[in-house]
Amino acid sequence: MLRRLSSSHRPPYVPWEPEYRCSPQSWLQGARSVLAGAVPYYSRYSRSCSSPAKGQGYVSPFAGEPDYHQFVTDKLVRLGEYILRLHPGTKYTVQVDSGPGCERLYALRAGVGWQGKNNFIIVPGVGSFVWLGLLVTNLELSPDLPLASQCGDCDLCLRACPTKAYRGANDYNHTRCMAYWLTDKNLSPEQCAILSRHRLIYGCDFCQLACPHNIPGDAEAAWPDLHNLLTMSAAELKAFFKNTAALWRGSNVLRRNLVLAAAGSRECRDVLEKLAQGQGMVAETAQAVLNAFAEGDS
Ligand code: SF4
Ligand code: SF4
Repeated sequence: MLRRLSSSHRPPYVPWEPEYRCSPQSWLQGARSVLAGAVPYYSRYSRSCSSPAKGQGYVSPFAGEPDYHQFVTDKLVRLGEYILRLHPGTKYTVQVDSGPGCERLYALRAGVGWQGKNNFIIVPGVGSFVWLGLLVTNLELSPDLPLASQCGDCDLCLRACPTKAYRGANDYNHTRCMAYWLTDKNLSPEQCAILSRHRLIYGCDFCQLACPHNIPGDAEAAWPDLHNLLTMSAAELKAFFKNTAALWRGSNVLRRNLVLAAAGSRECRDVLEKLAQGQGMVAETAQAVLNAFAEGDS
């Protein structure tokens, strides 16, 4: 595990050194076991509804309600309390995308799922649309075994990525991934144009939606209306996305993404013109989007 973490590209927002990410004893004194949990979140969405229409934007169900950090933490704490009732005096700590432990690697080792060629953990019968979390305890538990891959010669996920972020199986380059671009404050014009084309507000799921192990739900996805969101005040926007993970890079980045997703939408033109009169990242992006609009009209 350590060798894999050390040799892989370090993506942004992961401040811990590989050694620390694989040292449960550093996170909890006397740690003997790490439990990996997966909570499915995809069932509310239908695969056929994965593309928003013009004037709407895509928010990955990963970042939808509820905010998975708290939701999964609550579930793991309940598990910890259950362990405590069985074994009084046990110590435990919980982490959900907020600590040094690499959730995917522990889920892989614990046999929660196998690692797909797109690097996601695929839980048998459930798929990869799962939130992961860890519980570290000083209780000694017998380990589960990793699962063998069921990918076979499939490569649908690798071919589904619009920006060619995969150079091959498990060879992922985060600098080519739109999910990362959406959290970046400095985007190139080419990156902006690609994000506009796909109308992404937060998150990107093409490489998961292509996987046959992700079983679609039967509910209709209701994608947010961009005009409505772009006319909201800062407080209203925060209230709309509260209890989700979509705001963690700040409302300016989110508003910039909304502007990019609104490119080409005639219904949003008035609000884009208003935003372009301001200053800063959002105004500059609105101006660039309007310029592209004008070029398309001519
Ligand atoms: S999240 Fe989107 S851009 Fe990133 S690898 Fe998957 S399909 Fe490609
Ligand atoms: S799409 Fe195919 S190769 Fe990719 S993770 Fe799913 S089963 Fe594996």
